[in-house]
Amino acid sequence: MTDGEIIVLLGPPGAGKGTQAEKLAQKFGLLHLSTGGVLRDAVKKGTELGKQVQAIMESGELVPDTLVSKIVDEWIRLRRGNKGLILDGFPRNLVQAGFLKELEKDFPVSVINIQVDESEIVKRLAGRRSCPQCGKIYNVYTLPPEQEGVCDRCGACLVQREDDREEVVQERLRVYRTETEPLIDFYSDKSNYYDVDGNQDPRTVFRQICMQMLN
Ligand code: AMP
Repeated sequence: MTDGEIIVLLGPPGAGKGTQAEKLAQKFGLLHLSTGGVLRDAVKKGTELGKQVQAIMESGELVPDTLVSKIVDEWIRLRRGNKGLILDGFPRNLVQAGFLKELEKDFPVSVINIQVDESEIVKRLAGRRSCPQCGKIYNVYTLPPEQEGVCDRCGACLVQREDDREEVVQERLRVYRTETEPLIDFYSDKSNYYDVDGNQDPRTVFRQICMQMLN
């Protein structure tokens, strides 16, 4: 890793980009920008940005490039010193990749592509439930709560993210295939591009990403 490096996590929705980004940020002391997280937060707070993007996000489409590029731009400006930045969910299409490329002369970019089978993605996303009170995440197929629909930790009723409903998951996958997948070709001939098998358990995926990054 080099000073001020930008690490892009590519992969379909449900690949585990958020989980891996969090662990990487902790281990290597990087800033972590989840564009989806920033947008969800704006929706929750009811800000002007949130009002603009809520319906788009709930339908599984991408929000306008100008809005997300502005968020990324702000984060890049906010960086202090030589701290690296991990981008989780950006770029999502070639226009956004072009925006990032303009910055590349100042900041080296590495790309990690987490690959996951579609059947596994549907199971992960459509099965995901979370506790609105304490944030604990469950999966009705692989990690169910003791009592259906109730948080083990705090007893609150579990909720499903609007964009995790099965029909929206299918739309997010379609958007991924048409808009985001072309980025694999865009980046894969670069020397600092790595593929990782994301079908494995999160700890194994993390170990493999770390091995690549430390190489
Ligand atoms: P995520 O949590 O990364 O799956 O993002 C959730 C939703 O936020 C996506 O389905 C999009 O509607 C929106 N979003 C997140 N990142 C981007 C991006 N880079 N470009 C456009 N829309 C985005």
